[in-house]
Amino acid sequence: MAIITNPKFDRILRCGWKGLCPRCQKASMFDGWLKLQKTCPECGLDYVFANADDGPAFFALCITAFPLVFFIVWLEVAYAPPWWVHVLTSVPILAIGCLATLRPFKGWLVASQWVNKAVEAGTEDLWAKLNAREKGE
Ligand SMILES: [Zn+2]
Repeated sequence: MAIITNPKFDRILRCGWKGLCPRCQKASMFDGWLKLQKTCPECGLDYVFANADDGPAFFALCITAFPLVFFIVWLEVAYAPPWWVHVLTSVPILAIGCLATLRPFKGWLVASQWVNKAVEAGTEDLWAKLNAREKGE
């Protein structure tokens, strides 16, 4: 029994987690760690629509960093370890936790933008003109 029954939500989660193109779901949407490809090498999807801005960092902070900070505070309150224990545990846990989740969050946001055809409200005409200018139309 599938827990996720909404196909749009399923596509967003699967493509975002794996970093796959939201249209063909075959090629990677990334060209490097966080940089997006210009177009999908499989289906030619133009990633000009993708504008995650600081969304991945926001979600990495809210979903990843806050629980880790609670763990670090608990460690300090419960055991009062010397400062070097935090240098050896807390700093790497925060750094690795936040950096490791940036890519899935960015993939999730880009896939969500494509699946939901998201543009800023009232700017559809402006985006169409900008995209036409970039393509030389
Ligand atoms: Zn594709």
